[in-house]
Amino acid sequence: MSQIDWANLPFGYFKTDYNVRAYYKDGKWSDLEVRQDEMINLHMAATCLHYGQEAFEGLKAFRGVDGKIRMFRPDENAKRLVLSANGIMMQPVPTDLFIEACKKVVKLNEKYIPPYGVGASFYLRPLLIGSGAQVGVKPAKEYVFLVFGGPVGPYFKSGFKPVPMQIVKDYDRVAPLGTGLFKVGGNYAASLKASERAHDEGFSTVLFLDSKEHKYIDEAGPANFFAIKGNKYITPDSHSILRSITNMSLQQIAADMGMEVERRPIEEEELSTFDEIGACGTAAVISPISKIVDRSTGKEYVVSKDGEAGPVSTKLYKALRGIQEGEIEDKHGWNLIVE
Ligand SMILES: *Cc1c(COP(=O)(O)O)cnc(C)c1O
Repeated sequence: MSQIDWANLPFGYFKTDYNVRAYYKDGKWSDLEVRQDEMINLHMAATCLHYGQEAFEGLKAFRGVDGKIRMFRPDENAKRLVLSANGIMMQPVPTDLFIEACKKVVKLNEKYIPPYGVGASFYLRPLLIGSGAQVGVKPAKEYVFLVFGGPVGPYFKSGFKPVPMQIVKDYDRVAPLGTGLFKVGGNYAASLKASERAHDEGFSTVLFLDSKEHKYIDEAGPANFFAIKGNKYITPDSHSILRSITNMSLQQIAADMGMEVERRPIEEEELSTFDEIGACGTAAVISPISKIVDRSTGKEYVVSKDGEAGPVSTKLYKALRGIQEGEIEDKHGWNLIVE
């Protein structure tokens, strides 16, 4: 596929040759079905359409320096999809089925896995939806699990540069005891207004505060929040944020580098005391933050004075990318090699 301009691919949908699907019906999961069709044939009364019974995952595969293809921590994504499924009463996908589906999509679309060294990767999107027809408010009895994937370009086309973030208090992403810890579409629908407005106002991303008091840092849009203060890696402890696998991995790498890791409530005022701030997730690994503006008070927290990413964020970013691309020893066994 020499015609693909890997380095300039956006983070978006890319048509590949195959996707895989499994169906839950009559109390059991079917075998995986390989499909070329991009469409799903869905009953108009499917619960995913009416009552939001849908959850998804996002993970990446990389071609390493040795030419091998590695998937990053798919077992953790499998676990999280089980958590999400249970959270909104869907039939969970067994871990083996999840991993097999991801491996298959990678293998079948091998020609779309970007070469090593271009900064691109192969993004996998597992999806679980309630497909059974139901008009009364009830969980579906039938589910579709599918995985598709496609190449995505480097997140930072112009280098690893900090971006501005906006604090919003007039919208909440999730309720205090709601679905914030599940990767469900409803949370995204609820965050669209705030994030589109932030983009229109010149910010790359939004920072939601806890929805009970609007006092503590919660979720950084579709990513987790972390900060560096001296030798500490600090990230919020909250019931309403997603357990980012990137964040878990960065915490481990920080600890391995001799840093102290703190998971605790973080008040907005503390932002002015941090040396570095980042948003983390699979898509970018780390988005370094240049400044944070509180939309309701106008208060501005400047993080990067010189417009460059901080040294610790840069080190963490390089370490994680290095493990994913097989350049650095994978001492925690995070990579699954796809053969
Ligand atoms: C997917 C997601 C993240 C990032 O999780 P990773 O496992 O690191 O990709 C963070 N926050 C939200 C709300 C998400 O949906």
